Amino acid sequence: EDTRDLLLSRIRDVADYPKPGVVFKDITPLLADPVAFTALTDELSGICERHGATKIVGLEARGFILAAPVAVRSGIGFVPVRKAGKLPGATLSQAYELEYGTAEIEVHAEDLGAGDRVMVIDDVLATGGTAEASLDLIRRAGADVAGVAVLMELTFLGGRARLDGALRGAPLDAL
Ligand code: IMP
Repeated sequence: EDTRDLLLSRIRDVADYPKPGVVFKDITPLLADPVAFTALTDELSGICERHGATKIVGLEARGFILAAPVAVRSGIGFVPVRKAGKLPGATLSQAYELEYGTAEIEVHAEDLGAGDRVMVIDDVLATGGTAEASLDLIRRAGADVAGVAVLMELTFLGGRARLDGALRGAPLDAL
């Protein structure tokens, strides 16, 4: 509980960003505090190990920052899921719905496959669309989903409910 309070105290609310009416959760104060960043890395590593993850997917861009030290700490591989058009090799792509329009994410096909148990890490779960698309990618690559772990869940946006079907019983952890 102390750890959770520390972490939450290092997330800054920024009003009207990126547009009027939105309160943006800014994790840069947490990243700048080595005690908090280490505590978060330890928490996420514990979750990955409890769920038997053998690979960690980070979602561009803040998910990369959180997932990479967890991968090193837990001694398992890191795989980036990127916005379309950024990965140089052969990719799998998944489109998904945004509030206005669509987005697309990709992964290198050779980075995930049968026998992998994959944990998805991101900073904030909002509508759940990005995480849901990442679970589709992981399964299409032939891998299993160990779970999804986020620093924060914006509960009023209903991401947990949207993800429910795609999780197929895998855990969603939010600190
Ligand atoms: P979703 O697909 O609607 O769940 O949006 C999640 C994506 O948007 C994640 O990759 C988050 O990093 C980002 N995101 C949405 N809202 C926030 C926020 O308030 N702070 C930081 N990232 C956010």
